Amino acid sequence: MRFKWFQNKLTLVIIPEANERVMRVKMSRAALCAVTLSLLFVLGAAVFMHAAHFHNFVSSRSTQSRLEDQTSRLEQDLTSKNKTIEQLQNEIYQLSRQASEVRSKMEEMKQLEQELKELSSAAGTGGGSALDLAASPAAGALAVQGGMGGPAHPVTSQQVKALAKETRASFSTLQQEIGELKGKWMQSRQTMLEKQERAERKPGLWPTRSRTVTSPFGYRKDPFTNKLSFHRGIDIAGKMNDPVIASAKGTAVTVGYDKFHGHHVVLEHGNGLRTWYMHLNEALVHIGDPVERGQQIGKLGSTGRSTGPHLHYEILHDGKSTNPKPYLPES
Ligand SMILES: [Zn+2]
Repeated sequence: MRFKWFQNKLTLVIIPEANERVMRVKMSRAALCAVTLSLLFVLGAAVFMHAAHFHNFVSSRSTQSRLEDQTSRLEQDLTSKNKTIEQLQNEIYQLSRQASEVRSKMEEMKQLEQELKELSSAAGTGGGSALDLAASPAAGALAVQGGMGGPAHPVTSQQVKALAKETRASFSTLQQEIGELKGKWMQSRQTMLEKQERAERKPGLWPTRSRTVTSPFGYRKDPFTNKLSFHRGIDIAGKMNDPVIASAKGTAVTVGYDKFHGHHVVLEHGNGLRTWYMHLNEALVHIGDPVERGQQIGKLGSTGRSTGPHLHYEILHDGKSTNPKPYLPES
């Protein structure tokens, strides 16, 4: 019964404009249903595809916008990193300049050290060359040159790496050289201190204010016996209680009194040198006292075997009396 309903024919009449033939289309209900379903299916498919296409479009727009954001961020990042690289390159360049300046200064210091060494060794003979840093090659290298120009050639990363490596090596060498130079300077300082100490310990001052030598070193007629005798020091006339000073740095090894030397002081200076100060009115140091060059050690007097106020000054070298004259300054 139902099947029969599907088989029943339907006639569609299409009436066009006037004067044209009326069209009749005969089809079963089943065919009509099929055609309608097909149309609905096609329509549905079209709607689905359009919706899918729209979705894709929206999705791709969103992806594109996200990518654009990301690209923009990456570009900013890249710009910032490029700036940092440029700054680092500049810093490497500045460091390399500094290394080169430090190297020049190091050369100057080496030369100065050499000149000081020469001066130090020449000091004893009164010679020595004047320090002339302006004439040194290192100073010449530092001279500023005017004018700059020429085409710009951007540096490659290899060049920057090489510059950084070179700078690092340069600083490393400088560090080593500074260490060596410090050692040399310390050594020179020690040598100079020792030299200074030796100079301070060498008798080189008049022991009195007075420069009047009443009896020199050597043979003379003894003032008491009037017989020929050997005078082992010099006699310097002076006023009673005039200061008597140490002619060099040393240590008091004898402070005493006897009827020949009167009150007397003996100073030990090292290097086999000793100085004697006799006929003092009073000694102002004690045995074992360290004594500075120029320090007062007693008062001039006339104690012991003496005819009047004077100082008998004697220098012993390896226990033997020697003429003090070469040890006394001229003026
Ligand atoms: Zn004398």
